Amino acid sequence: GGDRSMIGLRKVGHTYGGVVALRDVGLDVRQGIMLGVAGANGAGKSTLAGVLHGSLKPARGARETDGAVRTSLAPEGRALFKTLSLRENLEVAAYAAGITGAPLRERLEETVEWLPVRLRDRLSAPAGGLSGGEQQMLAIARALIVRPDVLIVDEPALGLAPALVDEVYDRLARLAHDGLTVVLLEQLLSRAMSVCHEVVVLHEGAVAAHGRPDDPAFASLAEAAYFSGA
Ligand code: ATP
Repeated sequence: GGDRSMIGLRKVGHTYGGVVALRDVGLDVRQGIMLGVAGANGAGKSTLAGVLHGSLKPARGARETDGAVRTSLAPEGRALFKTLSLRENLEVAAYAAGITGAPLRERLEETVEWLPVRLRDRLSAPAGGLSGGEQQMLAIARALIVRPDVLIVDEPALGLAPALVDEVYDRLARLAHDGLTVVLLEQLLSRAMSVCHEVVVLHEGAVAAHGRPDDPAFASLAEAAYFSGA
């Protein structure tokens, strides 16, 4: 990854009613890296995902982007249109971004190529018939069809069998390897540490640690931060 910051957050804070979700968050998403945001239940990951995506305006602080950065948020697989086919789910996402006609056919082709073969063979089948892992894969594909500069993926491992988690993460790592900037919101610190280039630990809405998993000193710091914010 380079040093170009695609998205920068400065002193970002957010609350829901009286509940503090984010406090004083400062963060840069650097181009071409896979950035993991690890935090326990309620640490603020989904709120941070919305702020990075740009769809949630934080109550305090600023979000800066380097020019017109296109972000795309892959929500949980559960948010797919169950009765629509795989292809239709992809098409709907493209239409929503104003992509139609020949460009749409081209986008569909490249996006479908990213899917595992067993899904490519079932493009006309209803999305509701897919396994949990397959639905996550389709949710990510749906986010990719707009050709984002930054792909944000919120807890893709939720509810998946371990073998499927590995497959989803391998495919995310491949996207990052091909140069896409990826932000992964992840509940398990160990998983973020094993697949990401850089990891931010969120604790009670604050950045409690930020470093690189290949730095031997960072692992114990990150663990303490994850559990106690220390
Ligand atoms: P989880 O892994 O459980 O989804 P998270 O790390 O994604 O958690 P958020 O969903 O961002 O965390 O929530 C941060 C805090 O804000 C939590 O205390 C949560 O209960 C609260 N919160 C989130 N959304 C709302 C809402 N719409 N209304 C009220 N409180 C909310």
